[in-house]
Amino acid sequence: MKTAVVVGTGAGGAAAAKELQGSFDVLIIEAGREFRPFTTSLAVPERLKRLGLLFDERHIRLLFPAMRILKTREGMVLVRGIGTGGTTTVATGNALRLDQGLRAIGVDLDAEFSELDREVPVSTAHRKRWNETTSRLFAIFEDMGLAPRALPKMRRSETCGNCGRCVLGCPSGAKWDSREFLRAAVDKGARLVTNCRVREVTIEKGRAVGVTATSGALRRTFAADVVVLAAGGFETPLILQNSGIACEPKLFVDPVLCVAAPWENAGQDREIPMPFASQEGRYILSPYFDHLSYYFNREWPPGPGGILSLMIKLADAGSGTVSGRQVEKALTPEDSGSLEAAVDTCVDVLRRMGARKRDMFFGTLNAGHPGGMLPLTGADAATLRPGRLPGNLYVADATLLPGSLGKPPILTIMALAKKVGKAVRRDLAGV
Ligand SMILES: Cc1cc2nc3c(=O)[nH]c(=O)nc-3n(C[C@H](O)[C@H](O)[C@H](O)COP(=O)(O)OP(=O)(O)OC[C@H]3O[C@@H](n4cnc5c(N)ncnc54)[C@H](O)[C@@H]3O)c2cc1C
Ligand code: SF4
Repeated sequence: MKTAVVVGTGAGGAAAAKELQGSFDVLIIEAGREFRPFTTSLAVPERLKRLGLLFDERHIRLLFPAMRILKTREGMVLVRGIGTGGTTTVATGNALRLDQGLRAIGVDLDAEFSELDREVPVSTAHRKRWNETTSRLFAIFEDMGLAPRALPKMRRSETCGNCGRCVLGCPSGAKWDSREFLRAAVDKGARLVTNCRVREVTIEKGRAVGVTATSGALRRTFAADVVVLAAGGFETPLILQNSGIACEPKLFVDPVLCVAAPWENAGQDREIPMPFASQEGRYILSPYFDHLSYYFNREWPPGPGGILSLMIKLADAGSGTVSGRQVEKALTPEDSGSLEAAVDTCVDVLRRMGARKRDMFFGTLNAGHPGGMLPLTGADAATLRPGRLPGNLYVADATLLPGSLGKPPILTIMALAKKVGKAVRRDLAGV
């Protein structure tokens, strides 16, 4: 049987590996180690915060190795997961179908979303467990005509303790993440190599013949008949560029900014994150306790239970690049204008709750939905392989998305990765 190397085990990689195993002998290469949730008591970072010892978000990996931070030249904090399950392990579990842009270029994902419906447990059952703060916020959003909707979550509600720690890794396993697809692929015979970072794809005579990787100081090579890159929106473009294939300066990240105020017994730190959201123009608004801002931003006062916070998540312009370890991603004037409008709405909501404007403070500008640097076009709709790639090199992650979704992308990335897997099987399994 032919060998398919799949790089990465996040949303795209795990879905593609599961799809391919059986038709190919799949070898999955993952840069990180086996994921472990942050199970230490939050009293530890709380003490460090109070002592003023937490000031650079990049240090989060010392407490929680699976969470990694990059910073743009402009200071935006970029969050991702490195380890089995990729960024899905630190996600809040929102499950939305967002394939309008892909459909517009001729990519039909109906069958793949139907499969995901059967494979991934999704529900809005958390609504009956919302605390008083969330219920009041929801009523205010409704009064303001913001049309809030409870967000569907990838999780098993029976075992969810509503602990609010989704972004730190679920301690009970209630939250679904892509390790479940990874396990399914491995159970069917796929091989998994962890702690091994792919640097480049080896291309000879116009064909991908394998990948080069490093494990610590050790350089390793893996031969392949097919290579599927799913190292995420930052690293897939890097691997391609290292392999002599240029990507496009169209990086989007979905910037997030929180507007917060002191609020006695808000309890958002122990509430399911992003319980509901409303869409306004290019952004969504949602209640969200921002752990990174709380621990690392000195404007956030001690006492996590006493902070009321709203998240703005923006569909930004696709205008940024990754090169070496450097990410360039500046907000355009339009992006900034949308953020300002969103801040005004948040201030209005918080005021209606009873907070005073002079007490309000901002979170740290951050982002965790990178993609778009090798976008699919209508010309690629049948092959699902951008024309500049060799015939046996595919991408199966957010790098392929034609534009920023401004909303949680996991489900859409997985549907697309499944379809890429099917195209690889159709075009190469028997060749
Ligand atoms: C805090 C947070 C909360 C979020 N919440 C949600 C949510 O509720 N719902 C939602 O839909 N989305 C959410 N997202 C976004 C979502 O998790 C990501 O957009 C999605 O996981 C991206 O999928 P991907 O396959 O492109 O990349 P990833 O899931 O990031 O996977 C990339 C994989 O590649 C591995 N890797 C990286 N480089 C290499 C290399 N060189 N060699 C080998 N392996 C490599 C990584 O370790 C990882 O396993 C959230 C993101 C963050 C940061
Ligand atoms: S709220 Fe807690 S138990 Fe529920 S899915 Fe999130 S981390 Fe898991």
